[in-house]
Amino acid sequence: MKRNTVAEVPAKNCTGCSLCAAVCPSSCITMQENDEGFLYPSIDKDACVECGKCSRTCPATNDLEDGSVSSAFCLACGKDRNFVQESSSGGMAHILSSSFLAESRRAVIGCSMDANGIVRHVAVKDGKDLRLLQGSKYVQSDLREIYKQCVDLLEGAYSLLVFGTPCQIIALKTYLNRWRDRVIYVDLICHGVPSQKFFSKDRDIQIQRGRLQKDVPTKFRLSSRYERTGFELYSPGCNGSIKAYRDAYYSLFLEGASFRESCYRCKYAQRNRFGDLTIGDCASADFYPNFHSDRPVSTVIINTSVGERMMKEIKGFIDIIAIDAARESHLNKQLESPSIRPNKRDTLYRDLSALPYEQFEKRYLKRPTFKTLVKERIKSVISVRARKEIKRIAFRVFKNEA
Ligand SMILES: Cc1cc2nc3c(=O)[nH]c(=O)nc-3n(C[C@H](O)[C@H](O)[C@H](O)COP(=O)(O)OP(=O)(O)OC[C@H]3O[C@@H](n4cnc5c(N)ncnc54)[C@H](O)[C@@H]3O)c2cc1C
Ligand code: SF4
Ligand code: SF4
Ligand code: SF4
Repeated sequence: MKRNTVAEVPAKNCTGCSLCAAVCPSSCITMQENDEGFLYPSIDKDACVECGKCSRTCPATNDLEDGSVSSAFCLACGKDRNFVQESSSGGMAHILSSSFLAESRRAVIGCSMDANGIVRHVAVKDGKDLRLLQGSKYVQSDLREIYKQCVDLLEGAYSLLVFGTPCQIIALKTYLNRWRDRVIYVDLICHGVPSQKFFSKDRDIQIQRGRLQKDVPTKFRLSSRYERTGFELYSPGCNGSIKAYRDAYYSLFLEGASFRESCYRCKYAQRNRFGDLTIGDCASADFYPNFHSDRPVSTVIINTSVGERMMKEIKGFIDIIAIDAARESHLNKQLESPSIRPNKRDTLYRDLSALPYEQFEKRYLKRPTFKTLVKERIKSVISVRARKEIKRIAFRVFKNEA
């Protein structure tokens, strides 16, 4: 058996970052889908020269380079409501990207979904194409093509702003190390990723049912005056949406039941961060009721002086306050520990392949409880702002009576 290759990396640790395939000097590693639809390296043993470069570089087998543990936690939101609407939380990624592209020879690297629902990292050079990156795609994004594109851009004297999950940021940072002074990294707080295969299957079914549109990238977040965070699937420009609890893919994602195995042992789920900035949905937002209480807001962690400079550059476009780092880390669990693997993960992907989708849904999609339905009804008629006000008054009355 050949030694020192990533063939020895336990599948449970492999994040699917494709770095090994990018560094292999013999081009003998290809990333192949397993039965669940996640990408894993496959080595052409005859072409392998046993140089060991892939395993020496693989982030899953090596200690992490020093990141930084920062206490500079902020709560932030774009000033322009319409601008933020298309984003997932406070629109930070989009605002940072727009500001970055204001100068020439710059590109933003981030995740986009094409019209067929395929999710991959792409390079954007023109501000008007940034909408491709806007909004979270809760699917594992394919990095295979992006390594070479980044190198081509850097060799063409471009500077890059790179977004990704922490495992992707580590991989890209390792690969692009030579150009450290021309690349800025932003990692997302991340609790895990399901596979493209699962998403595509679910999307196809919802298209057949007329609930999603073919040839239009699907969106995952829909905020409005009635819904602050809005976990819903929809096709922009078309009527209707599907609440997460009515969709098998989305509800299992939010339950943390359909993640890649490496996500349940994620070594990046910690305060030590590897991006210049870290962004996520703010989990402690309710503790700051005077800060845009009716809008989705972002947590931003400023990890380096480069990150600090980026935030200064966008300060005219955002509202921002400092928040308690310990409380946010405690509530936003992926800043302390990985997602817990539920028992249903053992059978979920096997059943996805074996069962007709309707049967799979019957087995895995929980029926909404009466409480959920009542809550949803209230949410559909009373705005976020009004609900907050009612809560505040009720709390006061209750406190005076007690
Ligand atoms: C798979 C996943 C899991 C997440 N889990 C959490 C969590 O547990 N807690 C939390 O606080 N926040 C989590 N987030 C982050 C959150 O959903 C928002 O992406 C983040 O707050 C940025 O919002 P925004 O409004 O600033 O970004 P937007 O302006 O909406 O831009 C989104 C940015 O995210 C990038 N992106 C989108 N989808 C992906 C993807 N699949 N892979 C890599 N990059 C992507 C895009 O390139 C873009 O730069 C997760 C995001 C993803 C993609
Ligand atoms: S973690 Fe990345 S580099 Fe390591 S084996 Fe998996 S795909 Fe290859
Ligand atoms: S040992 Fe070298 S040649 Fe073989 S797969 Fe790894 S990087 Fe490629
Ligand atoms: S949970 Fe960890 S391993 Fe999984 S996608 Fe996120 S950063 Fe990568």
